[in-house]
Amino acid sequence: MSLQELPVRPRPLENESIEGYLLRVTARNGWQEIRHLLNHIGLSSSYLIDNQTKLKQLCEKIAPCTRMQPQELYNHFAENMNHSWLYEETRAIQDLRTRFPRLCPLCVNNTGFHWHWSLAVVSHCEQHDHPLWDSCPSCGESFNWHSSLFFGCPKCGTDWKPEQLPQLPEHQRKFQEKLSSGIGLESYIQDLCLALRALSRPYDPIHDKLSYWPTEQRNLAEMLSNAHGLLTQQIPLNVWIIGCIKKRSELRLLGIQTLLWPIIKFRKELREHWPIHESSLHFAPLAEVPRLHQYEGKTSAMSGIRPARLKHVKVESDLYFQARRQEVIASLGLPKGSMDSLIKTGLIKPINDKRTARDQFFDLRDLPSLLCLIPEKDECPDGYTVLQNRDQRLRHHRVLYADIVASSLTGKTPAFRPKGSYDLSMVWIDEEALSIFLSNACESFARNR
Ligand SMILES: [Zn+2]
Ligand SMILES: [Zn+2]
Repeated sequence: MSLQELPVRPRPLENESIEGYLLRVTARNGWQEIRHLLNHIGLSSSYLIDNQTKLKQLCEKIAPCTRMQPQELYNHFAENMNHSWLYEETRAIQDLRTRFPRLCPLCVNNTGFHWHWSLAVVSHCEQHDHPLWDSCPSCGESFNWHSSLFFGCPKCGTDWKPEQLPQLPEHQRKFQEKLSSGIGLESYIQDLCLALRALSRPYDPIHDKLSYWPTEQRNLAEMLSNAHGLLTQQIPLNVWIIGCIKKRSELRLLGIQTLLWPIIKFRKELREHWPIHESSLHFAPLAEVPRLHQYEGKTSAMSGIRPARLKHVKVESDLYFQARRQEVIASLGLPKGSMDSLIKTGLIKPINDKRTARDQFFDLRDLPSLLCLIPEKDECPDGYTVLQNRDQRLRHHRVLYADIVASSLTGKTPAFRPKGSYDLSMVWIDEEALSIFLSNACESFARNR
């Protein structure tokens, strides 16, 4: 018997996850947490087995403790890590594997932690149709990898009392079908991940990709049901629409497209069909939307946000209004590449002081007052002319539409916008001021050649 060999040496079970196996070895040898076992074999408490190399390293260490061959142990678990869909860089949730335990109380003690239970797109036990728990149904405590989990809650000590007559929901059945046939599996996962992420921060227009599902966000089984609802039913979508209109009501002057941007963006990124008709997105009359005041602190909705951005968030509602360049420009109805004209003239500035345009973000709440710098008019006044991005005169003089709009916004070139317009995609501009602007631009272009 080697020094490291453990008194109890369980063998891995069929379909058991590597973390589940470690926890079982931990529990059978009288320890409480996986870190005790990891420390015993000389690995750090936070050792994460998210790739084959790390699995190999772990197996080499653990095999002598359980009187097995490292290769035998490795082969047992490596198969579950071989699926290409486990990690996808372009997906809303890149790594499907959650970092916290989830369990079916009916079988965890007999068959161990099934490796499917760690997948963020799986909500139920395939054997018992029981929803997977990731926090205690009695006290609400979030699970960590603790050896009590085979029987009950490590925090309140309650023994597991499984739900009576659990039922397999449609989304779980769909997933199992796609998993066994392989048909449409990846796009189904893509969409479900998008919906999950959207649910975690529904009013936030900036969604960085999540490396994995945030450990702070529990009740994943329920969230998955809701995510599937978002993909297939009209009611949850309408609730989201109304929520967007209320939470982002400070942007109402910018029109419905801007208010609903988080939803429109979600819809654009979906691979499969959208559950409702496009026209339903326009049902809410803006005038009836109440203006809400929010006094929220930081909540779990803040999880999964990059620290560089989090620095600029005081309350959760700040998240609803932060946006990248392209959204700011789209909200103002300006063509791509217009941002520099606005920044140059000091009309708008990024919240963070990043030099790289890609990393900059802005506060959309700055935009309604910006828009109002160009007053409304019922119709085009005498001596004014319609100006839009694709105007020939601009092209002839190599002038950017954004430059002349910026000049109007700063009061140098008189302009109006049609009454009720939500953006600056079209303005009425003083004809004389326009021709001066164009000839000046021409001269400076000639000078700079
Ligand atoms: Zn089960
Ligand atoms: Zn508990």
